[in-house]
Amino acid sequence: MSTTRFAPSPTGFLHLGHAFSALFAARQGGGGFLLRLEDIDATRCRPEYAAATMEDLQWLGLRWHGGVRVQSQHLPEYTRVLDDLRARGLLYPCFCSRAEIAASVAAPHGPDGAPLYSGNCRGLDASLAADRIAAGASHGWRLDMTKALRATSRHMSYEELEQGTVDCNPAAWGDVVLARKDVPTSYHLCVTHDDALQGVDLVTRGADLQRATDVHRLLQELMGWPAPRYAHHRLVLGADGRRLAKRDRAQTIRELRENGSTAQDVLKMLEI
Ligand code: GLU
Repeated sequence: MSTTRFAPSPTGFLHLGHAFSALFAARQGGGGFLLRLEDIDATRCRPEYAAATMEDLQWLGLRWHGGVRVQSQHLPEYTRVLDDLRARGLLYPCFCSRAEIAASVAAPHGPDGAPLYSGNCRGLDASLAADRIAAGASHGWRLDMTKALRATSRHMSYEELEQGTVDCNPAAWGDVVLARKDVPTSYHLCVTHDDALQGVDLVTRGADLQRATDVHRLLQELMGWPAPRYAHHRLVLGADGRRLAKRDRAQTIRELRENGSTAQDVLKMLEI
């Protein structure tokens, strides 16, 4: 039996897409999953959404094993990973603003649609960068992709439940941010750290996150963490054919429940 997890970010109420993802994790996990709240972004996540997430899962009859891991309560653990990568010369501070990145020369886009970083801060003199940090300049930390790939030196792939062996191309992401300016860590770092720590051996999540798996495999190789298997599921689409987002209030589990649907009705809606 696989150890799976459901890892929502509490930035709004759960919608049908989340319920589908949780149901998928439960099925692949033989009836349950680990629950992890990915709430590192303090400006977007709210405790009331975290509480509502747990309540909605319970109402749906979806069960999680053990305690809930709340990422914001573990920031020092992520800092330790950053310290390790930094000590190995694989990170560099980046002072660029979002606007600068978007406007940088020939900014093509990475797999997530965000502009690819031009590498502006990669070659910054280390003592100059240290001075700027000491002076309080706002900065994030990026992975030096070229050095990271050199440090791993082997071809990376992963096992996908439906697709078999999938080759990775982390280079397509460029120098990814591992610690943001406003948050002392990042999705990529936390998700791989926690999956390893929690013994997740089958990562279940939406197909929209499949490309990120390339970066995750690279981090696992760099940190010596085990490679889990992956199962990326289809996304639930709204009536307009677009994927559901937290703004689609009518599709929240809460709204469906308030309008008289039972948990059985909601689960049936997902059996499409
Ligand atoms: N926290 C992410 C989200 O809500 C999911 C992360 C994952 O499953 O890898 O989109």
